[in-house]
Amino acid sequence: MNGPAGAARNVKKTEVIFFASSHQMQEHEVAWHLEDLRSLACVKTTDESSLTLGVVTGAIEECSAQLAQKLEVNKAMHQKIRICGDTQIEHVLARLCLGTNKVNHILRVHGLGLWQEGHTIKKFDECQKSTLDRLVPGLSEQGHQQAALGAKVGGLGWRPAVDIALAANLGALISAAPKISAMISAVVRAGLVTEGVLENCLQLKILSVKAAFLSQLSESERNKAENFIDKSIEAATAAWCAMSLGSTRSISAPLADTIFEESGVAAVAPQLDIEAAPPEEGTARKVTSLHVQRELSKLQDCTNLRTLDAALSSTCNWSQLKRLKELRHPETSHAWLWHINPREGSVMTEIDYVAAVQKRLGAKIIDAECQCRICGEILDSCLSHSECCALADATRGHYAVVRAVVDGMRGSPQSRGA
Ligand SMILES: [Zn+2]
Repeated sequence: MNGPAGAARNVKKTEVIFFASSHQMQEHEVAWHLEDLRSLACVKTTDESSLTLGVVTGAIEECSAQLAQKLEVNKAMHQKIRICGDTQIEHVLARLCLGTNKVNHILRVHGLGLWQEGHTIKKFDECQKSTLDRLVPGLSEQGHQQAALGAKVGGLGWRPAVDIALAANLGALISAAPKISAMISAVVRAGLVTEGVLENCLQLKILSVKAAFLSQLSESERNKAENFIDKSIEAATAAWCAMSLGSTRSISAPLADTIFEESGVAAVAPQLDIEAAPPEEGTARKVTSLHVQRELSKLQDCTNLRTLDAALSSTCNWSQLKRLKELRHPETSHAWLWHINPREGSVMTEIDYVAAVQKRLGAKIIDAECQCRICGEILDSCLSHSECCALADATRGHYAVVRAVVDGMRGSPQSRGA
């Protein structure tokens, strides 16, 4: 506070948070000079809610209330972007700017708490689901499960908050833990807190989020995730040590072994899988919260994909099972899903784009009974028949054109000269 310079302390914005219970606060009121402190700052305990870097901290009810408020904003923005009147643009905007992107920072802090509370996060996901239903009509429950997977394994990357909450929380904890530990050491050295108290809190938090995350995975991915988490913790600690010593040595973040092993198919030796994805030389992939979250989400995709495969098999949906397998082939490109020309907008006609996404997710495209115009067979609701229906005569025109082109080339001066 500098009176002569015209500066005044903003008491509301100056926060002092005590790691103590309200009972302890009353007990030490005089010794801690709380009355003086209250005239200078906003004094709180860790149980009371406050807003730090855009995230409400304190009791879980307050955190859920913030998520519920973000849900309303999200709903309103989904309504607003409908004005663009183009499904592809709307899809790309919603996928990249709305939905879980709007709350990822909250999930990084309170992922576990909100996942356990469950109610608000479910409402958030319902809003996402209804938007997807509007953009791509006819999706079944399995279609939604597929859309929630990453694009590389055949989904749309339309991940529900309930799926990313724990990965986001764990990613943030792993990447920030070394820094928080260093801050705790400083606090202990200053005599503000007894040694071991905050350290235990941090370790307990990491262990509980890790246990909850691992509980969602199937055994194969659980082992891979444990391996990846251990390596990430090591890398984060090494990166923090290097940085605090002023070293320029870059620590490369580990990659998770995200090779999908189908159930019933013997897994390739796990050791080999890990070797197959070593950190590339010279590329300093940093151990950031986002990197860890992304890798953990890929592992979760493998478990969810196996569940989806089983669901499709149990309903004898072989065409979609086959499509899903083709979609996760390493050489399949998914760029068309997000490809937008910055000047012209979408590059596919709206009807083609919607139909292509519907086919990708095995959506019900026609409701009424309809006959194939070529062979007369009754069409299935997903129009799988239309992809392969051809009568013997159907290729006649095609070969007539081929013959004409070949004849033309034979008769050309160049070919005669050759
Ligand atoms: Zn047909």
